[in-house]
Amino acid sequence: MLAVIKPDTQHKEEILEEIRGRGFTISRLKDTVLSREMAEEFYREHRDKPFFSQLINHGLFLRSGPCTMMVLTKDNMLEEWRASMGPTDPSEARQAAPGSLRACFAKEILETAVHGSSNTQHTHQKIQFLFRDISTE
Ligand code: ATP
Ligand code: MG
Repeated sequence: MLAVIKPDTQHKEEILEEIRGRGFTISRLKDTVLSREMAEEFYREHRDKPFFSQLINHGLFLRSGPCTMMVLTKDNMLEEWRASMGPTDPSEARQAAPGSLRACFAKEILETAVHGSSNTQHTHQKIQFLFRDISTE
């Protein structure tokens, strides 16, 4: 599946350690600075949502440095990764899932520290988009 550490050079290594510690295998890893067009393409399934423009433009956060793009594998990985991330809103994450990556590293709902593709179709789309040269789950 595809997961991303959003721009955060301060905590990147710590987050990578957490990911490995939780039993995920990182089979591909690539740092990419997204352009506005790439960010819009990356989050295209949200283009009709009221927060879309904020998501792409908020403090230029998504484009403020390299995103670490990763192909992860683990049994039951979609569910496992979602559980590792915790809820989208970090204040909810700190309440409901205190050990989760978002509880520890997310600042606010527009700076959620990590991303995970939410289903197999998005996984394929985003791996194709970001890693062009491979096709995998
Ligand atoms: P992601 O797709 O980044 O892994 P997610 O699957 O938990 O996060 P989505 O619903 O897919 O949540 O939202 C994508 C991103 O849009 C979130 O990471 C968050 O930054 C932002 N977002 C989601 N809901 C809201 C909202 N109600 N207000 C503002 N931003 C939001
Ligand atoms: Mg999502």
